[in-house]
Amino acid sequence: MIRINQLKLDISHTEADLSAKICKTLRIREDALLSYTIKKESLDARKKPKLYRIYTVDVLVKNEQGLKKKLRNASSVQFDRKEIVYRPAVTGTKELSHRPVIVGTGPAGLFCGYQLASMGYRPILLERGKKVEDRVKDVADFWQTGILNPQSNVQFGEGGAGTFSDGKLNTLVHDKFGRHTRVLELFVKYGAPKEILYQNKPHIGTDILIEVVRGIRNAILEMGGEIRFSSQMTDLIIQSETSKISGIKVFNHTTQEQELIPTDLLVLAIGHSARDTFATLQQKGLPMEAKSFAVGVRVEHPQEMINRDQYGEDYEQLYHGQLPAAAYKLTCNLESERGVYTFCMCPGGYVVNASSESNRLAVNGMSYHDRAGKNANSAVIVTVTPNDFAENAKNKENEEVAEKSEGNVLAGMDFQRRLEEAAYQEGQGKIPVQLFEDFCQNRPSKGPGSFEPQMKGAYHWGNVRNIFPDFLSEALEEGIKAFAMKLPGYAGGDTVLSGVESRTSSPIRIIRDESLQSTIGGIYPCGEGAGYAGGITSAAMDGLKVAEEIAKNYRFFDISK
Ligand code: FAD
Repeated sequence: MIRINQLKLDISHTEADLSAKICKTLRIREDALLSYTIKKESLDARKKPKLYRIYTVDVLVKNEQGLKKKLRNASSVQFDRKEIVYRPAVTGTKELSHRPVIVGTGPAGLFCGYQLASMGYRPILLERGKKVEDRVKDVADFWQTGILNPQSNVQFGEGGAGTFSDGKLNTLVHDKFGRHTRVLELFVKYGAPKEILYQNKPHIGTDILIEVVRGIRNAILEMGGEIRFSSQMTDLIIQSETSKISGIKVFNHTTQEQELIPTDLLVLAIGHSARDTFATLQQKGLPMEAKSFAVGVRVEHPQEMINRDQYGEDYEQLYHGQLPAAAYKLTCNLESERGVYTFCMCPGGYVVNASSESNRLAVNGMSYHDRAGKNANSAVIVTVTPNDFAENAKNKENEEVAEKSEGNVLAGMDFQRRLEEAAYQEGQGKIPVQLFEDFCQNRPSKGPGSFEPQMKGAYHWGNVRNIFPDFLSEALEEGIKAFAMKLPGYAGGDTVLSGVESRTSSPIRIIRDESLQSTIGGIYPCGEGAGYAGGITSAAMDGLKVAEEIAKNYRFFDISK
């Protein structure tokens, strides 16, 4: 197979234009081109107002070997490409005495469960929240009334934290084993559009994501897996002689009953927001460490302004209806040596109240597949390290908190909680919002400027700056001003800030060794909450990786015996 990189075509090109371009690049006639597959498509706006689509394609031709010599100097053409095929094997020989248990049905748990079920392991999946159809209703109620269900919300429930998201599926994880393609193919199999297989920045939106989650659930059930909702793991049973897991306690929020599930294999795919579960794991002596993460604000601008910045002033006239809502990614390093960067940008999206604990408030972003919302939103965040957690407590002259923070693996989680409490208070229970001009002046806002916030959940105009210790609010202000050098208008006085963006990644890592297990045997920390992924796709890939490792070591438990 031949790969051609960097094929550049006009925005409105046809399929015939693409195959003609392939033939021209390979210097072949049209009848020598057997087939081609698009592997990557991206938009090039570097020479705006002239925009291009750039393709990478894999091509089959009649006489590949004959072409090799002719094109030996063509730098964009590679010969003898081999497709990476995802093909994990069930080679394990160790006996299991019970079915594997997976805690959490976010992307990590669902994809781990899917893979194990497809290899015959009949896993039991436990989810503290509800199935996605019921969860959608609880989340809509919360946004309408402000009354939070602590078990069924934007963070908890089938599909995990990313269900009410923009559904961005890109990842920076380098993939040698075909897991990335496998994840995207499963998304397509269960309802996502096939373009995600090659788009540079694939996105499906909340609406399609919900359908995909439902499809994967049904497939797991059909393959012999079991999924129990409203079922929260509350304790671990560890055999002290062997230091191995032998079972877990599970509380059913519907029946209010506790149950003991015996298992010798436990996948912890609990996400980054299960703070009570992290505390239980700490009590049980599971090795964990505090890790850096990032916190900040959501920033909103009119999507129209971002489109003009990215595509050029006349984009509507030149490319009417042919371009997606524009995205951006910005970073800067401040003199203080802190990095400020944008994260989880949602073109044509909404800021959402993404809280999961009473009297604490966290925000995030989501969009639907069409990304047709009026505003663009993105997190603007600053990295915080374990040193900052203790330092911040000291700044607040709270020696007791400072002492507890030092060396405490859960200190990052406590830091998030303090910010979320401050956000809840500032917004009087609603999302606190502020104009950037007022943020800089450290005064509360009284109402919107030239455009309205687009939010899921009620909001309240106030002083978002009050949420943060000085080092963070100063870094955010500087960062946003620096971003305006790249995107004009970014630091406009009417820019809307809301807070607090605190659930960007896990504040904790559950340590695992090369066999992907904790030192407590049979426990597999997995996905974002355990600190091994960042985002939907990488969490799903980690789920596959853990399933492969299990299949490499264990023979599946024959349930009929
Ligand atoms: P999670 O998805 O958090 O899943 C963990 C699951 O475990 C949860 O369902 C939880 O209820 C369950 N659980 C926890 N503890 C227990 C317990 N004790 N017992 C039983 N069940 C338990 N990422 C992207 O790549 N693209 C995006 O566009 C994007 N947008 C986002 C928008 C929002 C609003 C949010 C909140 C996140 C977004 N993310 C996005 C991040 C993404 O959602 C996460 O990276 C991803 O979901 C992590 O997957 P996970 O399976 O590791 O954990």
